[in-house]
Amino acid sequence: MSDAGSWKDPSLYVKHIHVEESCLELDYTKEILARADLPYTVIEDRSEPQGIEGEYPANLNQGKHHLLLCKNRGHFFKPCPGTKEYRCCDYQVLNIGMNCPMDCVYCILQAYLNKPWLTFFVNSENLLSEMETAFQAEPERFFRIGTGEFTDSMALDRFTALSTKLVRFMASQNQAVLELKTKSAVIHNLKGLDHNGKTIVAWSLNSLPIMQKEEIRTATLTERLQAAKQCADWGYKLAFHFDPIIDHPGWEQGYEHTIKKLYQSVPADQIVWISMGALRYLPSLKTIGTERFPGSKIFYQEFIEGLDNKKRYFRPRRVALYKHIYSLLKQYASPKTVIYFCMESDEIWKEVMGYVPEEKGGIPEMLDQTVNS
Ligand code: SF4
Repeated sequence: MSDAGSWKDPSLYVKHIHVEESCLELDYTKEILARADLPYTVIEDRSEPQGIEGEYPANLNQGKHHLLLCKNRGHFFKPCPGTKEYRCCDYQVLNIGMNCPMDCVYCILQAYLNKPWLTFFVNSENLLSEMETAFQAEPERFFRIGTGEFTDSMALDRFTALSTKLVRFMASQNQAVLELKTKSAVIHNLKGLDHNGKTIVAWSLNSLPIMQKEEIRTATLTERLQAAKQCADWGYKLAFHFDPIIDHPGWEQGYEHTIKKLYQSVPADQIVWISMGALRYLPSLKTIGTERFPGSKIFYQEFIEGLDNKKRYFRPRRVALYKHIYSLLKQYASPKTVIYFCMESDEIWKEVMGYVPEEKGGIPEMLDQTVNS
């Protein structure tokens, strides 16, 4: 299998920057504009970037050429909105911006957001101070933090170098770890940092045909794994996410190829966790996805509506997918790596893994222990 079609750095898709007036004099804005070296327009605060034609979501292809630098006027730091119906991992989310220059057919942001451009928040000092306040308010608590709820953690890092600020900040925290999750291979800003083991660099992986057809402008499997190897050499802990697992012709061999290549490429004992989650989506995403990507077949299978109103494969199909992938992972994984489900029921845990999370203290406890061991 080959993995042609490379976008190691999806920020190359950005062609124009828009800056809110009140952000123009911030040092961070100036740094970003200098690094990006792209034309930019200053706009009034709270106004919309101009020059993007058409209606959302049809204008996403064009909109993703545009990046808005503005202030986050809400909160940066909040709990991940898992649902009460399924087991979740109790993650905290850092909201660093919205939308992403890559374009995955299944991306939930297409249905969550309603603006086509990319947004990055430049008031990063508030971001760090909000985290400090949250840590001080709960000194006994251990925080697992991610930046990837509304965007990819590293896709714009060539411009923003936010990873450097975050890794340095996290290095001195003793009650938290940060996970930077990406489908890019933009890791140069992580080099040479004294990370103190408090930042985990993570990649989403999939079967090659899915990466090639359904994950547009992402790094290839080889590029993602080379980047992961490099981060491992720099001493970072790693994580991987098989999410969304997609039922497609040849899926058994597809996932086997990826898992073998993963373990040939990176040291197993540096992987702290691996998650699995089968495709699930809001019904409105099917309308958007099939209109924007008429060649994709991923929405044309049998699905049921889950307790969280999302469509999922029928349970026996999910179990078959998970059992195959889990047995492959178990063959190669270090005993220290926690393999877990993102948003699945106890019944699925029991059927696939032979235990329910509570037997090991619950998913949050399992993940906290592995990063602290
Ligand atoms: S990389 Fe993530 S955020 Fe970006 S389009 Fe794909 S799923 Fe969406």
